Amino acid sequence: MKAVCWESRTNVRVEHVPDPALINPRDAIVRITSTAICGSDLHLYDGFIPTMEAGDILGHEFMGFVEDVGRGVSNLKKGDRVVVPFPIACGHCYFCTHDLYSCCDNSNPNAWMAEKLYGYSSSGLFGYSHMLGGYAGGQAQYARVPFADVGPFKVPEHLSDEQVLFLTDIFPTGFMAAENCNIQPGHTVAVWGCGPVGQFAIRSAFLLGAGRVIAMDSVPERRAMANEAGAETLDSMDPDLFHTLRYMTGGIGPDSCIDAVGMEAHGAHLDYVYDKVKTMAMLATDRATVLRQAIHACRKGGTVSVPGVYGGFLDKVPFGAAMNKGLTIKTGQTHVHKYLPRLLRYIESGAIDPSFVVTHRVSLDEAPRMYRTFRDKKDGCVKVVMKPH
Ligand SMILES: [Zn+2]
Ligand SMILES: [Zn+2]
Repeated sequence: MKAVCWESRTNVRVEHVPDPALINPRDAIVRITSTAICGSDLHLYDGFIPTMEAGDILGHEFMGFVEDVGRGVSNLKKGDRVVVPFPIACGHCYFCTHDLYSCCDNSNPNAWMAEKLYGYSSSGLFGYSHMLGGYAGGQAQYARVPFADVGPFKVPEHLSDEQVLFLTDIFPTGFMAAENCNIQPGHTVAVWGCGPVGQFAIRSAFLLGAGRVIAMDSVPERRAMANEAGAETLDSMDPDLFHTLRYMTGGIGPDSCIDAVGMEAHGAHLDYVYDKVKTMAMLATDRATVLRQAIHACRKGGTVSVPGVYGGFLDKVPFGAAMNKGLTIKTGQTHVHKYLPRLLRYIESGAIDPSFVVTHRVSLDEAPRMYRTFRDKKDGCVKVVMKPH
């Protein structure tokens, strides 16, 4: 089959590789009809995630038809149309049975690597380094899906691929970011970053009752997309965002603040090599700019929601401001499985049509070019969907 393979830093290639096969009884093989490039893939592309190996298949946002199932999978059959959550979850451990699917204790065979840094490992992820399981990803014609009796979620035929594909990651990720804000009717939510997850956080905040959303980005096309959802927008290069936000909120600040800039770093985990830590720390320092702004701008008693994983160690996070203002800080990788039934209902009812975010539709062969376009935010690129067949 054809697959998008990571070869080295800023070098991805479409290669011919062996078809995946069932290995365990709870596996399924999915024939992929649509797959997307995620912002977090760019951290792999740019070489910031350790434990990638040449030839690793990328991709964790994919959907398609079930091609084959192991004998331990009774809830799926050949021909079922499914979306596949990006975290791999066993369904039976303490965390899975408490709706904390991205914390699954059984799906990362290389957990020891992540434990060195975090104490405990998160779940395994598709296409996201050996430290997070070494699973082949879904930017390919086929993928092996472990724990297929738990992850793949059936979607109805009358919805297009582009309407349901983002249930795999960015829609639930934006939704969990908004849900973590404890939005009360009429609240004002400030969102840093109008990339794909920011866009879904904006729309989710409105779905959850926000009165106003103020969204910030430096890219005009991304601000325009936020405007279409009803958000007020600011240029994130404004040197005085704090006072602008304060002025816009009657002097008290936004009720909640979402940092959707660093959020795409699903498992931007550090290696034990200290040089790597320093590299990541520079990247993280850059990202901490947004986290610092969010903590600083948030009203007293408000919530700062960070949808995703920072690399490791952040410099100069104003924790004193957080403590003295009584802020709640919520974060985490997305528990995708938990949100799927609810978010599918939003799509079916017409409350949201996730296909709005797609700006580029290409074949899998164009992956190398699209990684560059997306990374450089060229050509108005917000979200790339690839067709493998
Ligand atoms: Zn993603
Ligand atoms: Zn589990």
